[in-house]
Amino acid sequence: MMNKKSIKDIDIRNKKVLIRVDYNVPIDENGEVSDDTRIKESLPTLNYLLQQNCAIVMMSHLGRPKGKPDPKYSLKPVAKRLQQLINRPVIMAEGIVDEKTKELAKNLKNGEIMLLENIRFDPREEKNDREFAKELVSLVGEDAVFVQDAFGSVHRAHTSTYAVAEFLPAVCGFLVEKEISYFNKILTNPERPFVAILGGAKVSDKIGVIENLLDKVNVIIIGGAMAYTFLLSRGISIGNSLVESDKLDLARDILKKAEQKNVDILLPIDHIVATKIDENAEIKYIDNVDIPEGYLGVDIGENTIKRISNIISNAKTIVWNGPMGVFEIEKFSSGTKKVAQLIAEATDKGCISVVGGGDSVAAIKKFNLENKFSHVSTGGGASLELLEGKVLPGIDVLQNK
Ligand code: AMP
Repeated sequence: MMNKKSIKDIDIRNKKVLIRVDYNVPIDENGEVSDDTRIKESLPTLNYLLQQNCAIVMMSHLGRPKGKPDPKYSLKPVAKRLQQLINRPVIMAEGIVDEKTKELAKNLKNGEIMLLENIRFDPREEKNDREFAKELVSLVGEDAVFVQDAFGSVHRAHTSTYAVAEFLPAVCGFLVEKEISYFNKILTNPERPFVAILGGAKVSDKIGVIENLLDKVNVIIIGGAMAYTFLLSRGISIGNSLVESDKLDLARDILKKAEQKNVDILLPIDHIVATKIDENAEIKYIDNVDIPEGYLGVDIGENTIKRISNIISNAKTIVWNGPMGVFEIEKFSSGTKKVAQLIAEATDKGCISVVGGGDSVAAIKKFNLENKFSHVSTGGGASLELLEGKVLPGIDVLQNK
C-alpha cells in the first residue's frame, strides 16, 4: 500500500515549488506539440499551486537527447502550449542550472511559472546524481517543496525524480496521487470478481505482471500475440503466429500455477488470421482453436469474444494492459475494440476499470473511448511495474502520510 502525502497534506502556501512533470510529448515536423494530453493532465496540480500563490519551477524530460543539448528535444514548444492552456505566461529557461537560469529562478515571483530546459540535456540526470540534485534544489532554495507529478517517470531513479527529493520535503501532485489511489485500490482491496485482461506482443514483457496478478485476480484473459505462446505450450497449432519459442516452459508453468491458485486463464478459442501483418493482406476467420499453416493470428475471434463478454460484464474490478490484436490495422482491430467497449459498459454499471499505459491507451484513443474508464494510466512502464508489485523509486522517496 502506497500512502503518500500530497500537496494538500502540507502547508504549501507562498512556497517555491520544484515540480517534476512528464512532458514527454510528441512534437510534429513543424515543431508543435501534436498530443497535449500530458500537459493537460498537469493542469489541476499547477492551478492548485497557483491558487496557493506558489512560485513554480518545472522540470521534465522529452525524448532521449543523450545527455547534451539538442534543439530537436527542446521543451520550448511545450512551454508555448502550456502557456495557452494555463492562460498565463510561462518563463522558458534556455538551460537547466546555468547562471542565466539561476538568475531567472531567483527572480521568480509567487504566482509565476518557469520551465527548465529538457532535464536530460544534462548527462547527470539519468545518473541520479546528488551534486546535480543540489544544484537543482539551489534554484528554489531549502524552504521549497518538491512535488512529484511525473507518473510516467516514477519507475526511474533519476536526479529529477529521486535525488532531489532527498533534499526537500517531497510530496505528490494530483496526477500521481490519482494513479496511486487507483492502483492501491485494485491491488490491495479489489471488489470481486477481479478480471485482468492482458495482451500485446510478448509474454516476456508481462511475466512479472502475470505472476503478481495470479495472487490477486479471479480470471486472466489473454489475447494479442502473447496468447500464441500459451496456446503452443498446450500443443495447439499456431501456424506462423508470433511466438516466443524460448518461453514455452514458462507459459506451461504459469498455466499450472494458475490452476493451483484457482485462477482461470482464458486463451482465445477462435481467431482472425492473415497471411501477413499488412493492411492489404487477406483476412480469414478460423472457427477453431488451431491455426492452419501459412496463416498467423492477428485478432481474437467472435466465439472468444462471446465467451469473455459475460466475464467482463460481471466483473467488479478490471485491469487491462495490451491490445487483443494488431489494432493499428483497421481490419485487425475489432477484437480490441469490442473488449474496450465491453469494459466501458461494465464501467457504466459500476465496475472499477483501470487501463494500463502504452498501447492499450493508444487503442482506446483510436476508438474515442478514453473517457469511458474509471482510470486511464498515464505511465506505460510505471503502471506495468506497479502491476508487477514493484516499489517505484519516484513514489517511494515521497513523504508518508
Ligand atoms: P505491447 O507493447 O506488448 O502491449 O504490444 C503491443 C503490440 O502488440 C501492438 O503493436 C500490436 O500490434 C501487437 N500485437 C497484438 N496482437 C498481435 C498479434 N496477434 N500479432 C502480432 N502483433 C500483435
